[in-house]
Amino acid sequence: MTGVPTAVMVFVGTVAGIEGFSAVTGDEMSYCTSFHRVVSALETEECAFPVVDAHLHGVDFLQETEGLCSLLERMDGAGITECVVFGLPVVKKWAACEPDRPRYYLDDNARCYTFVSTDELLAEEYSALRPDERARFTPLLCGFNPTDRNAVFQVERKLASRDIWRGIGEIMCRHDDLTNLTMEETSRMDHPALFPVYDLAGSRDLPVLVHQNSSSVGHHDRFEYLHEVRNALEGFPGTTFVWAHCGISRRVGHKLYHMMVEDMLGEFPNLFVDLSWVVYDQTVCSGRVPKKRWLDLVAKYPDRFMLGSDLCGHFQHLGKTMARYNTLLELLGGDERDLVASQNAMRVWRMR
Ligand SMILES: [Zn+2]
Repeated sequence: MTGVPTAVMVFVGTVAGIEGFSAVTGDEMSYCTSFHRVVSALETEECAFPVVDAHLHGVDFLQETEGLCSLLERMDGAGITECVVFGLPVVKKWAACEPDRPRYYLDDNARCYTFVSTDELLAEEYSALRPDERARFTPLLCGFNPTDRNAVFQVERKLASRDIWRGIGEIMCRHDDLTNLTMEETSRMDHPALFPVYDLAGSRDLPVLVHQNSSSVGHHDRFEYLHEVRNALEGFPGTTFVWAHCGISRRVGHKLYHMMVEDMLGEFPNLFVDLSWVVYDQTVCSGRVPKKRWLDLVAKYPDRFMLGSDLCGHFQHLGKTMARYNTLLELLGGDERDLVASQNAMRVWRMR
């Protein structure tokens, strides 16, 4: 990160920042300020079609939340019918050397660490809702260390203790700066600690949502970490995987990215992808309009894509974030639109 001007980093993040955006007041840090500007510039707050948000963190990087009741109000205001919701498996430390309390993992030099209680925080919020409100959420379990070979035992215990979990994720595997800042060995999609988790998920019919960069921030001419994705998909053909953001992250990209996604979807029938966070603005679109090659790809595999906000714990920008996809959905039209907007998520995550 040394030598990378903050402005450049933030620009690449653009709507990126959505993943970690939190309430910004007073002396905002540069990252949040820039993101706030980008999101504020978006005009529409209402989805043009009924949409499922298939990727939303109920808490932020401090494990704080506005609450699911507040989220429901935002969903109603934006035309979002259902939501796949999960915690965050790490928490950002407020280090003694840092004068300001951080809000986001990139805010300062302090590390993040595994936070197993994130599931309990979400479960408490979820359980406090009325049955008709709960029916609009699909909660996933994510609070375990993906590099600990005891992970599967922890997952099993959590599944047994609460009968609410409908899947596992978002597991944070290779995630550039988040990995760099997390106090653990590097997590990766084919880490041996995750294999029994995938096995368990497959046997219980629980889909797995995973963040795994397709490459490092240093390589844009090849997909340095794609073999790790392949190892997981090949090793567990009976497990359904959702690859968050199609394997893209800030500063991760390739000019033929769409071809890699096409190849992966063609090769692995157990693979689904979500368009959430940076991938839409950074890669799928030129300006605000989806590129033809991506429209063609979605049209080729209309039953494999879903949409998400990737908000974390604060939901004031939910409408603007999800309404970003209006143009894509308008251009798709018909059955393909319905699949991508809601039906794929509902089928994969077994909603209703
Ligand atoms: Zn996420």
